[in-house]
Amino acid sequence: IVDLKHIRQNPGLYQQNCLDRNYPAAANNSWRILDLHNQLVERQKETLELRRRNNDVGKSIQRQAGMGDDAQGGGAGGTSALLEEARKLKEELRGFEEWEGGVVEEMVGLAMEVPNLSSGVTPVGDEAEVIGWINGQEPATIATGGGRSHVDIGKDLDILDFEASATTSGWGWYFLKNEGAMLEQALIQFALHEAMARGWKVMTPPSLVYEHIASACGFMPRDQNGETQRYEIAGESGSQANKTLKTSELPLKVIGPSRCYRAEAGARGVDTKGLYRVHEFTKVEMFAWTAPPVATSHDEASRFGTDEESESQTDTVFEEMLSLQTHILTELGLHAKVLEMPTTDLGAAAARKVDIEAFFPSRTSISNGYGELTSASICTDYQSRRLATRLKYEGKGAGKLGFPHTLNGTALAVPRVLACMLENGWDEKEGFVRVPECLMKWMPGNITTIGP
Ligand code: AMP
Repeated sequence: IVDLKHIRQNPGLYQQNCLDRNYPAAANNSWRILDLHNQLVERQKETLELRRRNNDVGKSIQRQAGMGDDAQGGGAGGTSALLEEARKLKEELRGFEEWEGGVVEEMVGLAMEVPNLSSGVTPVGDEAEVIGWINGQEPATIATGGGRSHVDIGKDLDILDFEASATTSGWGWYFLKNEGAMLEQALIQFALHEAMARGWKVMTPPSLVYEHIASACGFMPRDQNGETQRYEIAGESGSQANKTLKTSELPLKVIGPSRCYRAEAGARGVDTKGLYRVHEFTKVEMFAWTAPPVATSHDEASRFGTDEESESQTDTVFEEMLSLQTHILTELGLHAKVLEMPTTDLGAAAARKVDIEAFFPSRTSISNGYGELTSASICTDYQSRRLATRLKYEGKGAGKLGFPHTLNGTALAVPRVLACMLENGWDEKEGFVRVPECLMKWMPGNITTIGP
């Protein structure tokens, strides 16, 4: 399932890739895999001789048994000597097979720890590159709200309650109330309907997935300082595990709402208040399977940066994801920048990742007010290999087997969008929040403002 051959043939590439992505612990795995492979080949050669001898001895024993066994107990060529040699050979071969099994297991284990290769367009290092803007270049000024936090706005309008949740559940939890609760439903409906109109199939996935499925998707139970960040991961990508897809079924594009639970251990820091970083939230997520060009997925020509790749199904669907994300934020009237994320931000699974960060008037002291609203990733065959999702080619390359590419992207993660909308839509003079026009039809009474 993991591409040992490609790793073995490009140990330097994988080593550098680990370093670029801040996976120093796995940096030497490719060299260790190569070393184990060389030992394996060497010993396989030696055992060929053993197997040949084993066959010969077996034949001699049969022959002697057929001749009435007149060499019983005799010298070196006698049956008992041959039987003894056969026993030793079998033991040696069994020993080799055991060793071989262990080595293969170790190589696979090492390869599983190696992150996906980064795309050619991904900046190396930890600086993202701005590749676009939504609703204008820089936000003009802090809106009429004067930088008021959604926490205060939500309290004034009686639509958010963090005090009640502090009592019932602790910090990082919240109650959405009245129009606040309805806005959540409106945002979900808006995102799902826009996606459906663009050909995405709606699906509601289970909230809990098996650990091995999460880990196959590249969600390692670790973070930079060894803390567990997730107690649960919505795992739409597992839905095709152990299946074989056909090229005619691809691209397969699904979208669904799910409840997400994030431990966010140690990560809340400055975000101790409000909706920005919470433990439970609804996210509408896109997931897609695409067919890479028929050449092996690790063939350099079929990777990034070539004309063929730029016309590939994977890139087309990725552009569709970005276009839906952009459309939703444009309609919601939020100022945002589109970022090509650098290697250290890719995690284990992504080859390429684009985030969209929007302007939060209350957060100007933190990264100039910008905060991540969406993320979209191309995972090439990293997840499908680990999940054993296969691809059968039809037409060009008919009959060949490969692995589909997987992609995932946030259509809309409710609490941050809600916070961003409240802060940007707040009218200090009137004391109300404007409801974006695109949400009106999903709000009771088609209200255009929330407030007095
Ligand atoms: P992820 O699934 O981690 O790629 O996150 C996708 C989006 O979900 C982010 O861009 C945020 O908008 C949102 N999100 C992630 N974690 C949280 C959290 N703890 N609280 C609120 N929103 C979050």
